[in-house]
Amino acid sequence: MYDDRDTQFETNVETRFGVSRRDFMKFCAAMAATMGLPKGADAQIAEAITKKERPSVIWLHHQECTGCTESLLRSEHPTLDKLILDIISLDYHETVFAAAGHQAEAARKAAIEKNKGKYLLVVEGAIPLKDGGIYCKIGGQTSLELTRECAQHAAAVVAIGSCASWGGMPSTPPNPTGSAGVGEALGRKDIVTIPGCPPNPYNFLATIVHFLTFGALPAVDAKGRPTFAYGRLIHDNCERRAHFDAGRFALEFGDPGHRKGYCLYKLGCKGPETYANCPSILFNDVGTGSWPVGTGHPCIGCTEKHIGFEKPIHALADLKTNPPTGYPRIVEEQGTGATLASAALVAGVAGLAVGAGMKIAGNLGKSEPKDGE
Ligand code: SF4
Repeated sequence: MYDDRDTQFETNVETRFGVSRRDFMKFCAAMAATMGLPKGADAQIAEAITKKERPSVIWLHHQECTGCTESLLRSEHPTLDKLILDIISLDYHETVFAAAGHQAEAARKAAIEKNKGKYLLVVEGAIPLKDGGIYCKIGGQTSLELTRECAQHAAAVVAIGSCASWGGMPSTPPNPTGSAGVGEALGRKDIVTIPGCPPNPYNFLATIVHFLTFGALPAVDAKGRPTFAYGRLIHDNCERRAHFDAGRFALEFGDPGHRKGYCLYKLGCKGPETYANCPSILFNDVGTGSWPVGTGHPCIGCTEKHIGFEKPIHALADLKTNPPTGYPRIVEEQGTGATLASAALVAGVAGLAVGAGMKIAGNLGKSEPKDGE
């Protein structure tokens, strides 16, 4: 069993990962917390990372912008990229690979042969299916052929980013190349998806660490998304939620409500219909507010098919949950309209959930900030 006081352990960590034991244990605790694992799981993770063989990873790129890889490797955290590359054995990756052409193809085939049944296939980018898949070819093979070949002997397939998860930007109507996510392209339902544009690197890393520590991928929802990361609505964890419940909305970019950090629902925020942990996990390790809504931009719903890149930015989100009727008002409102709570109550009496959503939406913004407030 691993012992974090072991000086050998300390030396190994420092030599292998280039970080202190303390920082390494903080990382393991962060991974455990990200996955919602119980106390003691950080020690299990530390043991797995330091003692188990690094899983071989083959990483394919198709129709995408490489933003997923960029977000992973250009994280502000000083050790994240190092930890990623030291936790896994990245045996094929078109962006960071020094080899090119036939050499790179040979390395991919050799990695598959050597790690048959054990490697992880990570796919970044959508797969074009129209006209025999000719719109994206690598080394003479279509994306579909290449993915099929690599998936055949993989222990598991992980789709990183919205493009690989469900088609993302390339699949936006009219979808001229017939782009699809990996699951749809391969006709498989067992693909783990980490959607997002870009996805949060910690969600990917935690998925890999779970595989390494427990020998299995984490529990997923019906769309293949790890439930630890995509189990809750953004709206339910948003720091502006109290403003939503109190009926305080920004109505224009730069207006008094926007400058005060009011809710962005009326600017088209899709947080109420988007599942992701962005408000909790944030981006780039720079502290509070480092996520789209935190910086004043409405959520575009990038983790959700038919919302991200498809639903107009100005369109209001469908409310999946009603504001709690028992919430006290934070301050007395200036407006004259019904409060959100009373709107929910009235609509609830009407007895229709859809009607409730519409009723609430109809009353949203009746107590808007005035200039100078
Ligand atoms: Fe936050 Fe958007 Fe929900 Fe407002 S609508 S509380 S900004 S997620």
